[in-house]
Amino acid sequence: MKNLNNLASFDKIIQPPWLLEFTRRLILLNQPFMQNFRAWHFRPGMRFREKDQWWRPGSLRPAPHEGVDFCCFEDKAGRLVYLRPECGIPALFKGRVAALFDDFLGRSLYIVHENNGRQQSGIIYAHIQPAPEITVGRVVKAGEVVGVTAVQRRPGPLRPHLHLTMCRAAANVPPPTEWQAIHRLPIELINPLS
Ligand SMILES: [Zn+2]
Repeated sequence: MKNLNNLASFDKIIQPPWLLEFTRRLILLNQPFMQNFRAWHFRPGMRFREKDQWWRPGSLRPAPHEGVDFCCFEDKAGRLVYLRPECGIPALFKGRVAALFDDFLGRSLYIVHENNGRQQSGIIYAHIQPAPEITVGRVVKAGEVVGVTAVQRRPGPLRPHLHLTMCRAAANVPPPTEWQAIHRLPIELINPLS
């Protein structure tokens, strides 16, 4: 942890608490690329319910954003640094892999965290290339590497990024197996940064 001595000050600027822990793990996993991380940078359209297409200023998304996009950060010199393809992605919490499906940049991984018998909460890690051992049914530990940011299939303005959706549903709601299902099923989306 000796590279991370100054991370203690992060809790002032990185909220909520899960994001602080996730960011610490991400920095450790992606050394030395992320070692000068200072703060996440969000352009309009990267956060929950925002409508802009951050990759195409002036255009709107077909639907408000279903989560948050981690795409770039400021380093200690104030420069903007973009995530690369193949950045390691750690699981936020312990959970069970409930679904894996394609999205328009890579694959989406849905991990369920049991709350109690009636409710479940889940997190979708989108635009990643899941690790080979991450298969449906597997129990993952907090911090376990679930995959890497996907390599772009074709050149374009959409840079590699991690999209996170957090949601809640009744325990009997089936896991989404494609993005349209997130809108069709009785799933409540949560602002990850609230
Ligand atoms: Zn997104």
